[in-house]
Amino acid sequence: MMDAPLQIARILDHGSTVHGTAEVVTWTGAEPRRMSYAEVGRQAARLAHALREELGVTGDERVATFMWNNAEHLVAYFAVPSMGAVLHTLNLRLFPDQVSYIANHAEDRVVIVDSTLIPLLAKAIGAMTTVRHVVVVGGGDPAPLLAATGDRVAVHRWEELLAGRPDRYDWPEVDERDAAALCYTSGTTGNPKGVAYSHRSIYLHSLQICMPEGFGLGPTDRELAIVPMFHAMSWGLPYAAFLSGASLIMPDRFLQAEPIAAMIAAERPTLAGAVPTIWTDLLSYLDAHDVDTSSLTEVIVGGSACPPALMHAFSERHGIEVVHAWGMTEMSPLGSVSRPPAGATGEEAWRYRYTQGRVPAGVQARIVGPLGEPLPADGTSVGELEVRGPWVAARYVGDDAPDAEKFRDGWLRTGDVGTLSPDGFITLTDRAKDVIKSGGEWISSVELENALMAHPDVVEACVVGVPDERWGERPLATVVLREGAEVGAEQLRDFLAGSVARWQLPERWAVIDAVPKTSVGKFDKKVVRSRYAEGDLTVRELAAP
Ligand code: AMP
Repeated sequence: MMDAPLQIARILDHGSTVHGTAEVVTWTGAEPRRMSYAEVGRQAARLAHALREELGVTGDERVATFMWNNAEHLVAYFAVPSMGAVLHTLNLRLFPDQVSYIANHAEDRVVIVDSTLIPLLAKAIGAMTTVRHVVVVGGGDPAPLLAATGDRVAVHRWEELLAGRPDRYDWPEVDERDAAALCYTSGTTGNPKGVAYSHRSIYLHSLQICMPEGFGLGPTDRELAIVPMFHAMSWGLPYAAFLSGASLIMPDRFLQAEPIAAMIAAERPTLAGAVPTIWTDLLSYLDAHDVDTSSLTEVIVGGSACPPALMHAFSERHGIEVVHAWGMTEMSPLGSVSRPPAGATGEEAWRYRYTQGRVPAGVQARIVGPLGEPLPADGTSVGELEVRGPWVAARYVGDDAPDAEKFRDGWLRTGDVGTLSPDGFITLTDRAKDVIKSGGEWISSVELENALMAHPDVVEACVVGVPDERWGERPLATVVLREGAEVGAEQLRDFLAGSVARWQLPERWAVIDAVPKTSVGKFDKKVVRSRYAEGDLTVRELAAP
């Protein structure tokens, strides 16, 4: 067989010619902007010419983006790796000192920024020591960037930089194992860690995203990509869209329920992907407003455990099927997608859908015990999940990375705890660091949260382990109640007693306005624990039942 490298430029060429009439729609709050995939191809060529000839980007230099999900970000997604450089998606929700730490660690040379984000980048760029060029997309005033950097950094405007450049580029043949893109973990503990995706890993991962057992993307689909392009490469959706011909709908900075509902009604997506918190907000909105969501048959929910109550609500009240998926930045990110096997119907099918899903051929999984000893894939043995495969990271970027803790005998230690069934379905009970250890027994914080979120008055519930003199640790339940709801801690505990063992029922309860979230929209349990430790929560302690 021919030895053709699996490279991003091939995906770009394919999408921009064979699927040249597919489009990327960028929401603007007013009239949406539309760009055909053919035009994305032309702009990618112009950007690559500009980066090479004007900004002097060569070899595997890093070109960072500090951007929302939009057409220009998509152009950068293709231009930078196709020319042989490395795309680095910076997480704009991190603190400025974390952003500059990451940019320095990656040795970013160029940053492409949306003009609406100039004030935010200005807070970080002063400390970014390797950046020499900033490219501003849109018409904002770049003065804050210049003020922060003096003459160390040259500021360019996207439109002017690309104008008049050739709309074809002779993409070089790269080694498929070379780095194409770089993404840092959201780093809730310690410094964020860099994961370098290769051309080969992205290509193979994109194929899996398109598979029916993946997200099932095809040329008649319109994918609403809410998951940020700085969070695990938007779950691979941009590349998968160009491979399959699916159009993309990009929300830009309009991430609240109301504009998302408007996007769905106007742009008629068939598929969408986001973390559970986005869907929780959207559900409340859809319940209260008359929105035409009839185009949307399926949404992919991952990044955190999806509460079963959310799945049922979308399915039963809005005819939208929630498909649960699991993954990690270290896994490109796809690990598993929860589609019931042939023959499963009714309650049995639902039980499959609650799980984190089934691993594809490209992901090998195993469960290990405390000493790293493999446990049986029998659906009941509980341990840490380890994975390996062609789109799973083998190490982190840099010599300072804590590889020893995260990699063992060629496997990635996920830090997730759960079971693996003989037919490859993963069920996670918790993050290893979030499991509550009470009197020598383990309590799953996620199980308590899911059970609580099934209560009609509970919008969100976040459960953490807190120190307890007698038991070592006990669960603290923090809940966000529906507006006007008056349900009390005793009633919630009684409700939980219907589905949770008595000894697991929390004694400590706090009603909060909102669950604190991480930079990628997950429950931030570290913050909840520290608020409790500092006495910032009003906690009711119930007597033992
Ligand atoms: P990140 O790299 O930021 O995407 O975080 C990866 C981690 O998110 C995983 O190791 C899990 O702990 C968690 N996660 C992702 N998807 C799910 C899911 N469907 N259910 C439970 N946890 C999830």
